[in-house]
Amino acid sequence: MDCSNIKVLKICQYCKKEFIARKTTSKICSDNCAKRLYKQKQRDSEIAKAVLKIEIERRPLAYMKEDELRAIQAKENLILQEAAILLNESPLTLRRFEVLKKPETVRSNISCYI
Ligand SMILES: [Zn+2]
Repeated sequence: MDCSNIKVLKICQYCKKEFIARKTTSKICSDNCAKRLYKQKQRDSEIAKAVLKIEIERRPLAYMKEDELRAIQAKENLILQEAAILLNESPLTLRRFEVLKKPETVRSNISCYI
């Protein structure tokens, strides 16, 4: 059988319209849809990266490796971001504590540069 003559009815992954494919592996009806699908996938992956970045910033401890955490714990002086990681708070929260002079401010045992 000559593979170049086969015709398969398929649904385009991008526009969802039916099209006649010449290969069983075809997923897209046209070059235009292929380009748009590629751009859409790129956009989706950019969004996924941004969401992951926000997740990591929100919950730093969950994504911190043990040796990275130990290195911060061993430091005598911490920058705001490091203090935030150790306390599992956002840097913004620590800054707010500092501004409001709340008792939660963590200057007793660890010296922070806020
Ligand atoms: Zn299409």
